[in-house]
Amino acid sequence: MSKRKRSFETTESESIKLQKNVKALQELIHIRPDLKGKKVYFFPRLNKYFEGIIFYDAKEKKAYVYSVINDLKYETFSQWMIGLKNWGLFKGYRSALATIFLEPNPNNIVSLVQKESLGEGKFVGIIMQEISEGLELHFFDEKKKLKKKMIISARGIFLSYKVWVLDQVLQEIDLPFPVRVMKRTLDKISNLIQYIVSLKICYGQRFENVVQIRGNQLVGNNKEHCPFAFLENKNLPNEAYRHVDCKFIIKDGNICENCQKIYKTMQQIHRRFLAGVNSTKTVHASKEILIEKIECQKKLIKTKSVTIANIRSCLQKKIEKEEGEISDKMSTIRLLAETHLA
Ligand SMILES: [Zn+2]
Ligand SMILES: [Zn+2]
Repeated sequence: MSKRKRSFETTESESIKLQKNVKALQELIHIRPDLKGKKVYFFPRLNKYFEGIIFYDAKEKKAYVYSVINDLKYETFSQWMIGLKNWGLFKGYRSALATIFLEPNPNNIVSLVQKESLGEGKFVGIIMQEISEGLELHFFDEKKKLKKKMIISARGIFLSYKVWVLDQVLQEIDLPFPVRVMKRTLDKISNLIQYIVSLKICYGQRFENVVQIRGNQLVGNNKEHCPFAFLENKNLPNEAYRHVDCKFIIKDGNICENCQKIYKTMQQIHRRFLAGVNSTKTVHASKEILIEKIECQKKLIKTKSVTIANIRSCLQKKIEKEEGEISDKMSTIRLLAETHLA
């Protein structure tokens, strides 16, 4: 067993007793008489601690914790914690992860994440934030975009967790450990964080031409025309359709198994489109395609009206010509008549 692990587990087992029982201090001295005269550290926040010294009154046969900052002694750890709060030495909530440690730098999740998220650590790209129920971890990609989130909630030393990928909560089936409240070793937590770091995200199925044909959604062939995939990041280089049952994480390849299914449909749509725009039913067509269709219709009508206009002008010319001929005849007749009358 490594030194690191041992110190965590010692802290862990002692923490259980500390939280279970206000008499924890007396029990602790009973189990660990070597702690008499030793320092203890109370962390109301993970980045703030108070120093105490355990001492034993042999006459009273009772252990006390001497609080350095306010020069007072307390019979229990909880009295010490309440005392510090009443003195206004820390305000607001007490972190669920906070507890009493036997070292000023407890080997806990916080120090693990802090250490591994720096430089060439295992958790590069993670930003950690303390929240009232525990810890919130934000996972960023190379482009500094927030992609995943994890909350580790603490109830005493028992931890539960929840993971989000692109704002979607992951189901337990996609996670390596149960999510419920349970005792977890630091190694398990480390493995869990590493697993989340390594998770590949599904960004949906791409088929450029189909976006043009179908637009914002793909609908089913059934009567209801239920959409089964929606377009995301429209007009961006990462524009893609995401299946309504997208898994959000990838097991194999570059896409989740449900988004993979869309590809065949998209090929069909593309082939049908190549065979002629009319094969796209109006209800399924994208706005762009509908506009194109309308433009096409307009052009047809325009061509027809040009033809009509041409016919009209031809007729007009013919009529004018005929009228001219008539008037010519008339004037000839008139001339003749006038001549004859003269
Ligand atoms: Zn249909
Ligand atoms: Zn997917």
